[in-house]
Amino acid sequence: MLGCLLRGGCSPLLCLWALVLPLVSLHPFNQHGRRDPIVRDRPKLLLVSFDGFRWDYIHRVPMPNFKTIIDEGVIVKEVESAYITKTFPNHYSLVTGLYAETHGIVANEMYDPVLNRSFSMETDSIYESLWWEEAVPLWVTIQKAGGRSGAAMWPGSDVKIHGMYPNQYLRYNASVSFETRVERIIEWFSAPKDESVDFVVLYWEEPDESGHRLGPQNPEMDKVIADIDEKLGFLMNELKKAGLYEKVNLIVTSDHGMTQLSTDKIIELDEYVTRDLYTWVDKSPVVGILPKEGKFDEVYSKLVDANPNMVVFKKEDIPKHFHYQHNIRIMPILIEAKEGWTIMQNRTGAFMSGNHGYDNTLRSMQPVFVARGPAFRQNYVKTSMSSVDLYPLMCHILSIHPLPNNGSLFNVRDLLAEEPVPSTSSVPPRVNEYSYAPIVGSFLGVVMVLGFLVVYIRQVTLKQLPSLKHRSREMSQPLLQEDLHL
Ligand SMILES: [Zn+2]
Repeated sequence: MLGCLLRGGCSPLLCLWALVLPLVSLHPFNQHGRRDPIVRDRPKLLLVSFDGFRWDYIHRVPMPNFKTIIDEGVIVKEVESAYITKTFPNHYSLVTGLYAETHGIVANEMYDPVLNRSFSMETDSIYESLWWEEAVPLWVTIQKAGGRSGAAMWPGSDVKIHGMYPNQYLRYNASVSFETRVERIIEWFSAPKDESVDFVVLYWEEPDESGHRLGPQNPEMDKVIADIDEKLGFLMNELKKAGLYEKVNLIVTSDHGMTQLSTDKIIELDEYVTRDLYTWVDKSPVVGILPKEGKFDEVYSKLVDANPNMVVFKKEDIPKHFHYQHNIRIMPILIEAKEGWTIMQNRTGAFMSGNHGYDNTLRSMQPVFVARGPAFRQNYVKTSMSSVDLYPLMCHILSIHPLPNNGSLFNVRDLLAEEPVPSTSSVPPRVNEYSYAPIVGSFLGVVMVLGFLVVYIRQVTLKQLPSLKHRSREMSQPLLQEDLHL
């Protein structure tokens, strides 16, 4: 087509069609906040996280509502969370598709040496935008594209990020019941057409809290897990009552798993290094250590071979596959306990019976993942995925162009109903690098359109009446601006 145009062999009308076609087919949401009517009627998406819901809890007690989701939709048996397997980093990975080193929420407790500020779940520091703005969560991206979103207590969703809150959100309050959170979500989805939301995130604190307190092996966890199934059933019923069950794509997952601890497996740092040599930033089982000025070598040498049940990394030696190195908020020394071990300064600290945060390749650290809805295949079992793959999958379902991310739609597109049934069960190779496809595609699109435009103006200039010269400039300029904003 370009060669044809360059040779002057096409009619101006055909040239104009070639110019306009890529523009009308690129974006479901236009650049002025108005939504394409076709996309407006697309299915909606609800992402639910039951904190600390380990993958195998669904096999532990009868879970009829989870079973229904699996029968009507998909299940992924092995989901690798992002390292470190803690709550804040992983909830942000789920909605950005980024590893913690890239999105900047590298732990539940952080210190930023450039800002000279600390982030802690125990303080209002979590509401400071600056901690969150190394990435853009999906609710912001959707809203910038003209869509609408809602959030019920999801970590970070009640923080102003890049100038935005979700259109509808609940400020975090652990005393708000699951049922109330669901009722609000149903209202948001059911609002009049121009006010209803496209994408909602819902967070619930269990079974994480009980998992920490009781330990996952405690038989009392059975009823905690059964209660989660009842809560899922409540959500499904409310969706049905509102006529949303067949319209909303429902994804139920978690941020990490949980493993059993023991008072026989405690590492006491005070035995190896005195407290005045370092600041203890993030807590067990992956501990961020900030040595006092000039004390790095001393602290490292005292810790590195101190205990066989922990591994001590210099920041630059943290294994590449963790994707946990390139951020100033990751401390100069990282201590990782072996599974089941607890790192404390001494035994006077509070002890938990269960914990997470360990190596993300451990099976015990893996979360549940099930989904159903019009976008998903039915009764389909997938072997494995990475939790960062969820972001490009959600963008695809919502017809949103993903921002650069660490996930891969290719790795998970077999979950989609629109895809042909996979011929083998082999898992495609992981794609860990950033996806530059959208950037390259947009760049090529701009180059092509500019090429068409130049040739078209040249044709009109050469072949048409002189009065058309001015009109062609008027006609082409808005199209060019539209494209440059892609
Ligand atoms: Zn958690």
